[in-house]
Amino acid sequence: MNSMYFTEEHQLFRQSLQDFLKKEVVPHINKWEQTGTVDRFIWEKFGEMGFFGIAYPEEYGGLNLDLFYTVIFLEELQKVNSGGFAANMWAHAYLAMTHLNKEGSHEIKQKYLTPSITGEKIGCLCVTEPFGGSDVAGMRSTAVKQGDSYVINGSKTFITNGVYSDYLVVAAKTSPELGNKGISMFVIDRDTPGVSATKLDKLGWRASDTAEIAFDNVTIPASNLMGEEGKGFPYIMQHFALERLIMGINAHARADFALEYAQQYMSERMAFGKTINKFQALRHKFADLYADMEMCREYNYSVANRLNKGEYVVKEATISKLRSTKMSDEVVYGCLQFLGGYGYMEDYPMARLLRDSRLGPIGGGTSEILREIIAKMVIDKKEYKPAAK
Ligand SMILES: Cc1cc2nc3c(=O)[nH]c(=O)nc-3n(C[C@H](O)[C@H](O)[C@H](O)COP(=O)(O)OP(=O)(O)OC[C@H]3O[C@@H](n4cnc5c(N)ncnc54)[C@H](O)[C@@H]3O)c2cc1C
Repeated sequence: MNSMYFTEEHQLFRQSLQDFLKKEVVPHINKWEQTGTVDRFIWEKFGEMGFFGIAYPEEYGGLNLDLFYTVIFLEELQKVNSGGFAANMWAHAYLAMTHLNKEGSHEIKQKYLTPSITGEKIGCLCVTEPFGGSDVAGMRSTAVKQGDSYVINGSKTFITNGVYSDYLVVAAKTSPELGNKGISMFVIDRDTPGVSATKLDKLGWRASDTAEIAFDNVTIPASNLMGEEGKGFPYIMQHFALERLIMGINAHARADFALEYAQQYMSERMAFGKTINKFQALRHKFADLYADMEMCREYNYSVANRLNKGEYVVKEATISKLRSTKMSDEVVYGCLQFLGGYGYMEDYPMARLLRDSRLGPIGGGTSEILREIIAKMVIDKKEYKPAAK
């Protein structure tokens, strides 16, 4: 393990997380993949262990640790081989909770961030809409101020933790005529009248409850506005850097898991009187895939290091997700081939890995959109700046 970034304390944390996942999570994964639901007790156990509080202030019950603890958290989550389970956990801890922490008032943090850290409350982030996925500014949901309240109308789709979460962090237009300058962020309790959710069926991430959500005259206190009115778009864009790096890290960890499994398998499987890891065609393919994974992993660590120091790494995080998710798809596809027919069977890990990996180049900004961002930054010299708050 790279000692440039990981201390002995990091390694101890990794070990205790691995032990925890092996004991508390792995025995349930197949069931959760089948039911499409993660049992509530595991959220509370994650909370008790402090895993949701790694990156958050001590004032709200967090541990305020450096970003490499988050890197370890993400890497080890991938290794239980359920992209859906991992997504439930990191979407709560790093999509919903990031907005609470960065833009929420002290009262919002007390009410939502603290119980999110303990695992008593689960959150989701609602940005994507049926008519506005890549085009975030094209969203149609509205939030109209009426006295001391906002009234929210509209719909969201593909929301991770969309059915079972206790609160929703929601982007809606407070000034539709202002385009991306008219978007604001709100936190909404699940049990507010007018909120409804429908679970979606999907190719992979099967342990994750992805949902379509409708808001029908949902009335919330004006104090549930997070940050400044009209600043929602820059807040979302700002946090995309972390989200995209997270998806890059997830991708290299997934690929690493696939390679480790394939390497073991190839050392045991016999064909033509020898183990298949002796065939040069497979050895060289493995070496190529391993090299690609290692390149991404090192790059992702270096971006994490810069983000940890407070640098604004929009371009680098975009590159991380673009390249690492492509690499992961190729590595998993190649590793499935190493297993021959067994790779195609549900009793072996590659089939699920292949399904789960495929979301990488789609969720949190498609590869096409990421290329567009890189092109704008490199060719047009466009600069993205952090939002004020
Ligand atoms: C399992 C899952 C979980 C998700 N979780 C969440 C979540 O928790 N919260 C949330 O808010 N969202 C979530 N998403 C939504 C995800 O971020 C969007 O699906 C993604 O941003 C793409 O939007 P879209 O699906 O509307 O595709 P579209 O925007 O309709 O894109 C369709 C195709 O057109 C391409 N395209 C669009 N615009 C351009 C362009 N300008 N140039 C070139 N090509 C273009 C796209 O790359 C894509 O190939 C999730 C999605 C999935 C599938």
